Amino acid sequence: MPTIGVYQDFKFLSGHDAVIIHRLHIGHTQLTHSYLLSGTDQPECSACHCPLTVKHILIECPALTSSHNEHFTASSMKDLFDNVLAQNIIDLIKECHFLSHYIILLLRYHLHRSQGNHSKAAV
Ligand SMILES: [Zn+2]
Repeated sequence: MPTIGVYQDFKFLSGHDAVIIHRLHIGHTQLTHSYLLSGTDQPECSACHCPLTVKHILIECPALTSSHNEHFTASSMKDLFDNVLAQNIIDLIKECHFLSHYIILLLRYHLHRSQGNHSKAAV
């Protein structure tokens, strides 16, 4: 496990918060683009109707720009996970209540897709 960026203060998070951060990281690094291969509809951001991804929520969504600026500045997901403390990301998620709903939806979606892709790849 890396000792920089989000994982720097990982051990100080509650179990629940640590799980969120870990899943965001895994979800982004491994699964963000899996829907492109599957051809299934991608969940949509209800604020701006862009495809809902971890990156969209944490960096791109124009509806969240002011919240982003309050908690961290990151130009890419690599920048975010390398340089932003996990607590700042958790603070953002907690401040925007609807985000927890998005993230749960998104994680479920990624989990479902990854299982699907995995079994296809194994054949
Ligand atoms: Zn959006």
